[in-house]
Amino acid sequence: MAEVKIKDIVKRYGELQVIHGVNVDIRDGEFVVLVGPSGCGKSTLLRMIAGLEPISDGEMLIDGKVVNKVLPKDRDIAMVFQSYALYPHKTVAENMGFSLKIKGVPKPEIEAKVKQAASVLDLGKLLDRYPRQLSGGQRQRVAMGRAIVRDPRVFLFDEPLSNLDAKLRVAMRVEIKELHQRLKTTIIYVTHDQIEAMTMADKIVVMKDGYVEQIGAPLDLYDNPSNVFVAGFIGSPS
Ligand code: ADP
Ligand code: MG
Repeated sequence: MAEVKIKDIVKRYGELQVIHGVNVDIRDGEFVVLVGPSGCGKSTLLRMIAGLEPISDGEMLIDGKVVNKVLPKDRDIAMVFQSYALYPHKTVAENMGFSLKIKGVPKPEIEAKVKQAASVLDLGKLLDRYPRQLSGGQRQRVAMGRAIVRDPRVFLFDEPLSNLDAKLRVAMRVEIKELHQRLKTTIIYVTHDQIEAMTMADKIVVMKDGYVEQIGAPLDLYDNPSNVFVAGFIGSPS
């Protein structure tokens, strides 16, 4: 678990400024959803938290320590990508253990971690299968399993459900929430889907054009939107 502080963060790509002084405080174990229309800067912000993108200005703190210059591998953060990012020629177990193998973790330890994550995600019977032999939901669980085996302090999700059909999306929302309750890890979850934000978040950060429009609990935003944009965005289902 970890606390994340985003302080006056600015991002420029050359002349183009895409993040304009964003401030967000994320508590230990909190489930925070970054929501906003396509192009508003959600992925950029998430990638800066992961250390995959340099910060132009401002400070990023994890558990009180400035991490602006800390490499991604030393941040104890795992990013869950969409399920199509699985290795097609590796089994479920190999996919899940691969990052540990690269780090040189001994094989028995990898096997134990994979087994434990598989039981959390109900993948125990599927460890020898290949991604093409799995359903979309099972693949998404494997994608989460790859992150869990690393025992990260923070999980980052970037629109993990956007490629799934509507019915599966609903089921996966519930699974991710249950996962959060079991692991109690800090989660920062990006989506452009208002319903996902409303049903999953402890706290929602509404973004627009590289600015934060409002931060609050789902019902706070629903009942007391600070402007017309937030009211329209949270009020209208996608
Ligand atoms: P979101 O995830 O909310 O859809 P992004 O963070 O991907 O938005 O993008 C925010 C803005 O930054 C967009 O205008 C996008 O075109 C721009 N952007 C993203 N990555 C780059 C890049 N590598 N170079 C230049 N502009 C970029
Ligand atoms: Mg994005």
